[in-house]
Amino acid sequence: MESNLLIEFEDLRAKSINALLAAKEEGRKVVGKYCIYSPMEIVVAAGAIPIPLCSTKQDPIAVAEKVLPRNLCPLIKSSYGYAASGACPYFKLSDLLIAETTCDGKKKMYELLAEIKPLHLLQLPQKQDEEALQYWYGEIIKLKDRLEVELSVTITDRGLREAIQLMNEERRSLKDLQDIAKLKPSPISGIDLLMVLYNRGFSIDKREAVVMVDRLTLELKELYSQGVSPFNTKTPRILLTGVPIGIGSHKVVQIIEESGGNVVCFESCGGYKAVYDQVDEEKEPLLAIAENYLRTPCSCMSPNSARFELVEQLADEFKVDGIVDLTWQGCHTYNIESYSLKKYLQQKRSRPFLQIETDYSESDVEQLKVRIEAFLEMISST
Ligand code: SF4
Ligand code: SF4
Repeated sequence: MESNLLIEFEDLRAKSINALLAAKEEGRKVVGKYCIYSPMEIVVAAGAIPIPLCSTKQDPIAVAEKVLPRNLCPLIKSSYGYAASGACPYFKLSDLLIAETTCDGKKKMYELLAEIKPLHLLQLPQKQDEEALQYWYGEIIKLKDRLEVELSVTITDRGLREAIQLMNEERRSLKDLQDIAKLKPSPISGIDLLMVLYNRGFSIDKREAVVMVDRLTLELKELYSQGVSPFNTKTPRILLTGVPIGIGSHKVVQIIEESGGNVVCFESCGGYKAVYDQVDEEKEPLLAIAENYLRTPCSCMSPNSARFELVEQLADEFKVDGIVDLTWQGCHTYNIESYSLKKYLQQKRSRPFLQIETDYSESDVEQLKVRIEAFLEMISST
């Protein structure tokens, strides 16, 4: 799709480094995060800049494998390698890291990262009931206390409420953008949508990013009304669920679209999962934040039935023809959960389902092409 706005999003990541450097010179603090369980409202209320640090690149993995086991999830190895090698500018600029006890690999890797940078570890419960909420609420309060000490600020209720409103507005704009792909045919490719979702995360001005995203949504609506789309009404529409992806770890999205499909919905962390649910603006702010974040349907929760329901709901809403469940090698939680997700979808007589297990490398591209082409052909012939 030809669009000046898309080019602006493509440039956003590189530009944000300079903006971040300038902000640091003015005395702003930067807080790095690795997971969508990290409550960014508290960071924003502290006047700091939140920045994502999960790496999507293959390059840093060799450095990481000098310390970490080779058969570990590539996301963990890449994130550690990027930080430990000193190659990640965002990591270097971070004053504090927020991490949480999600999967085993990540939480043990964080112990090593804590030797490099100050790190606050949130002890995340692995269930989502009232007892877990009270525990998690305590963890959220501890994070606020740590940020106040570490960043030498006072976080007020008013600041938290304003941050909640801003982040809800960000969620609203990102949801509106993703909902555009419910149109048939979608006016935006999955790869462009992924690029926008991924790159805008590096914008240091959330209000500006909301305006940019809303402008793009309007532009896409206009394109649809003019009948402009890279696809047609017969293009197989795919929902992608599973592990987090970004630009650099996008090969499966690329293969699906080069093979004639269209990824219309990303249920995973950088996509719908992070934005479909708002923080309650009427409640006590830290409790409302705790409630919202604990509801996140990640495979580190046991059970994680909310994810199954979300996948099925989105499959209907986006009128998808097939579901692809992506798992990184070494990710036991998503890998095991794939069996249960498939069973759940079969019981619901949902769409054709394909699990793909891979890593960040290009070594299996040809094999993946064969499997994905066969899947799309099967969808098209039914
Ligand atoms: S998949 Fe789970 S652990 Fe990974 S970023 Fe998402 S919420 Fe965090
Ligand atoms: S993809 Fe799986 S193993 Fe990798 S960090 Fe996320 S939950 Fe952990």
